[in-house]
Amino acid sequence: MLGAYALASKDTQHTCLLIDGTLGLDSGSLASALSLEEQLRIEAVLLTHRHFDHIQGIPTLGVATLDQHWPIDVYSLQGTLDAVHEHLLNGDVYPDMTQPLNSGPAKFRFNPVEALVPLRVLGYQVKPIPVPHAVPTVGFIVKSDSGSCIGYTGDAGGELLPFFQDSLGVQVLFVDVTFPNRSEELAKLTGHLTPWLLRAQLQMVLRANLPMPRIVAVHISPGHRDQVAAELSDLAAELGVDLTQAHDGMTVLV
Ligand SMILES: [Zn+2]
Ligand SMILES: [Zn+2]
Repeated sequence: MLGAYALASKDTQHTCLLIDGTLGLDSGSLASALSLEEQLRIEAVLLTHRHFDHIQGIPTLGVATLDQHWPIDVYSLQGTLDAVHEHLLNGDVYPDMTQPLNSGPAKFRFNPVEALVPLRVLGYQVKPIPVPHAVPTVGFIVKSDSGSCIGYTGDAGGELLPFFQDSLGVQVLFVDVTFPNRSEELAKLTGHLTPWLLRAQLQMVLRANLPMPRIVAVHISPGHRDQVAAELSDLAAELGVDLTQAHDGMTVLV
């Protein structure tokens, strides 16, 4: 868990996960939370959507690893890839690293994905799961050949059931819980969850008798961290669910 927050500051990193040191889930802190040596190990990145806090690390990661003459594969919805190309890697704001540069090969290889169409990335099984948010967004289920399986909702205002129903068998689910309960209107408006809104999702899972993975709340609004943590802890006790709030630098073993 490179970052667990919705905002970047000296004390908080943008929500971003790194699997086995090589596969990034979103890019908001791929550069800022890793040493240059660690950045050189990244081989692929899955982007959930085009919002800046999720795509921010791409240009910096590209330049940091430019001397390494093999590409980093970036996977996302076509619209997200287009937005990164058009607004960040456009040859104006930053170099277009999807094209050969300085007589070297292109740094980034963009790979469009489609919702619910499984693919293989670095030997992992990956399935993009569409979720409701302010812009087109997919969360991801990622399963290793050894059988470990995580889900990551990205920014999501609900409709989480597919993560629990999927035959890949999610063991740990990283869920957007940006706001505290009192900000429910704002959460609904912006396509995020509160602990109370998450409660409705988890109740559906329990009612359907689906297996309940460990839940880790991410994308926390830093100003509301303690309030959200308290509300999550009440929810965990009420539903009897393994539910914790993430923090930067947290290692989750699956
Ligand atoms: Zn977003
Ligand atoms: Zn976000």
